[in-house]
Amino acid sequence: MSWTATILTLFPDMFPGPLGQSLAGKALNSGVWCCDTRDLRAFGFGRHHAVDDTPCGGGAGMVMRPDVVDAALTAASRNDGAPCVYLTPRGRPLTQADIRRYAAGPGVTLLCGRYEGVDERVLEAHAVEQISIGDYVLSGGETAALVLLDACVRLLPGVMGSAESGVEESFSNGLLEYPHYTRPAEWNGRAVPDILLSGNHAAIARWRHEQSERVTRERRPDLWAAHLSNTTRSSVQEG
Ligand code: SAM
Repeated sequence: MSWTATILTLFPDMFPGPLGQSLAGKALNSGVWCCDTRDLRAFGFGRHHAVDDTPCGGGAGMVMRPDVVDAALTAASRNDGAPCVYLTPRGRPLTQADIRRYAAGPGVTLLCGRYEGVDERVLEAHAVEQISIGDYVLSGGETAALVLLDACVRLLPGVMGSAESGVEESFSNGLLEYPHYTRPAEWNGRAVPDILLSGNHAAIARWRHEQSERVTRERRPDLWAAHLSNTTRSSVQEG
């Protein structure tokens, strides 16, 4: 059984979109994963298949109706334990740990919002996880769903060229990755660091770890603080 992404959206033609290309596209064509897109409009009411209504309490915009979203979620409901995720800027920030958890399971059901978002009651009733891809506002959840799926699909068995590339990369050990260099050894007056051309693998591993620490400390004080507290905790447990 393939890893399955069930996507509830008003714009089904946006899928698989860019995920039909490159590694994800090959994996889709070879059945490693499956993209099951459901049109929310099919669950709408009346002649115009309305899916939204004005916000209670007034204000701008429209809100996606709970009964419409409930019907779509119920029709898509899976008994394989796949998590159901609503993409929203009001959600918990998406992390690589979430991605690893989703990729390790049978798949994921993704609810893509539009307008001002989805009526809160249906999210509570279906115990939907609310996830944000960053502190900015997109016009719809579809691009956020594509981001989440891209990150999951590359971790599925057989999708990445080298198993190692998933083990060493950013966030895998709580740090950002070290900088990369390739040929030529000198370019526009800038040289590749000597150590990387030394052939001394232990020294290269040490240098890369130091660089990972430096980049994380400089660019992501939040990750660096978490890394320091994890390191302290493990040395206390060991000691
Ligand atoms: N009124 C909402 C707010 O201020 O929180 C923004 C609604 S946005 C215009 C429409 C939809 O885009 C949302 O329901 C959500 O599905 C999606 N969306 C927008 N920004 C997102 C983000 N940073 N992460 C995940 N989904 C997002």
